[in-house]
Amino acid sequence: MPLETTSVHHRALVWFRRDLRCDDHAALAAALRDAAQVWCVFVFDREILDALAERRDRRVEFIHDSVVELDAALRAAGGRLIVLHGQARSELPRLASQLEVDAVYANHDYEPAALSRDAAVAATLERDGRQWCSFKDQVIFEKDELLTGAGRPYTVFTPYRNAWRKRLLDSDTAERAVRPRGRLAPPTAGTAQRPIPTLEQMGFARTNLRELKIPPGMSGATRVFDDFRERIGRYHQARDYPALRGPSYLSVHLRFGTISIRRLARFALEVESADPMAADGARTWLSELVWRDFYFQILHHHPHVVGRAFRPEYDLIRWESGALADERFAAWCEGRTGYPLIDAAMAQINQTGYMHNRLRMVVASFLVKDLGIDWRRGEAYFAARLTDFDLAANNGGWQWAASSGCDAQPWFRIFNPVTQSRKFDPQGKFIRRYLPRLAELGDKEIHAPWQDPARGAQGGRRDPGYPPPIVDHDTARKATLVRYSAIKGA
Ligand SMILES: Cc1cc2nc3c(=O)[nH]c(=O)nc-3n(C[C@H](O)[C@H](O)[C@H](O)COP(=O)(O)OP(=O)(O)OC[C@H]3O[C@@H](n4cnc5c(N)ncnc54)[C@H](O)[C@@H]3O)c2cc1C
Repeated sequence: MPLETTSVHHRALVWFRRDLRCDDHAALAAALRDAAQVWCVFVFDREILDALAERRDRRVEFIHDSVVELDAALRAAGGRLIVLHGQARSELPRLASQLEVDAVYANHDYEPAALSRDAAVAATLERDGRQWCSFKDQVIFEKDELLTGAGRPYTVFTPYRNAWRKRLLDSDTAERAVRPRGRLAPPTAGTAQRPIPTLEQMGFARTNLRELKIPPGMSGATRVFDDFRERIGRYHQARDYPALRGPSYLSVHLRFGTISIRRLARFALEVESADPMAADGARTWLSELVWRDFYFQILHHHPHVVGRAFRPEYDLIRWESGALADERFAAWCEGRTGYPLIDAAMAQINQTGYMHNRLRMVVASFLVKDLGIDWRRGEAYFAARLTDFDLAANNGGWQWAASSGCDAQPWFRIFNPVTQSRKFDPQGKFIRRYLPRLAELGDKEIHAPWQDPARGAQGGRRDPGYPPPIVDHDTARKATLVRYSAIKGA
């Protein structure tokens, strides 16, 4: 194909990673603008997949199904998705060389491991005389785009959100329109023509993702989004009650980019300005999307948060260790702490790969401030279990709960798991859904079954298999205040 006069490159390759869609996609839009022929690739990266602990992983299945849909959409537009299974660091430059592209286009990633991979790929491409072109796509503002008046990164959320809103222009949320214009190229020869590997070929098996009705891909994202559009006006009132359909459930789609953050932010802004009845809900939801940007920029500016406290003095805390701590950690993971809300929340993450935001805060606090266990152990457990696991948000959430983060929960503020239960699951509906063994308990007793004087230790309707609380909250609270106050003078 002759080089068009408007084209910067003859041939380009778009590398999809956590942006599994072909609409409103910064890198794809730019490649189609810049190059006469554009190939598309996704690599099931063995550097990531081989390190996964389990061969049934909802994320791998979600990605796989989303990739199949993306391929179909690209075919409908005249192209195809080349899907490889190997080490992205070597597969990508090899494919670029095989296709003889002038440039590789991709969207920015902010995680340290991804940055190291991208730097290695870019260096190899450059050595081979090819360009690495990368774009902001998964956030509205990134890196140094929002700084304080003193030119420093924000570490407190509210002024960050105020600056985010003040700086926002229509162009920040405008669609990065994908116009194929006949430029999407079909595969040529060799690797590029191989069919998409099946999950089984990559050593994985299906999970309960389909039973859970978590729809993958762009079509799944649109379904979930459409459902939420009807509810956004009630978001601020409903979002804290795990038994209600309050939040959007879009986190997995944002994680894998099956929907564009710009589309979501645009929608929230439109509702906020056009519908007074729904404005409060839309504003609150938009604020959650800003939290997402906030934690990405924290990770960018403070990569030490991976593995260490944002505030270094918190690394001096002496966490519980040894056999008792291990047993308590196992009880937390397996949902047998004897605190129904904690156990129901852990059942939710274990059975579905999702946990409601209020419960993420409560179980994280319980692990750190009731059991005295290092937040990093909880962070790692969430990282392994959450389908929407995102390093920046997960680390931010854990450090918030542990009080070691930027703009975190004050160290002396300790959630009472029973009070939280009474407040946010007043009728015990969520508890009953995930702990059916407690279903027959009354609305009052379900939050703290051991406190029911009518039943005695093991009697009444209580499930004799349900454990007593592994720690007494008041005693644990006092121990935590001592634990944390010890570092305050350090
Ligand atoms: C300990 C802990 C761990 C967490 N781990 C993750 C994680 O691994 N991945 C993840 O996406 N979120 C994480 N969160 C944030 C939040 O709990 C989830 O984003 C939310 O529950 C996802 O459900 P939703 O899509 O229905 O949220 P909605 O309430 O509908 O919010 C919309 C979107 O805003 C973003 N968002 C909401 N709250 C936050 C937040 N506090 N920080 C950053 N982004 C936010 C998410 O992208 C979310 O999908 C964590 C929070 C805590 C306290």
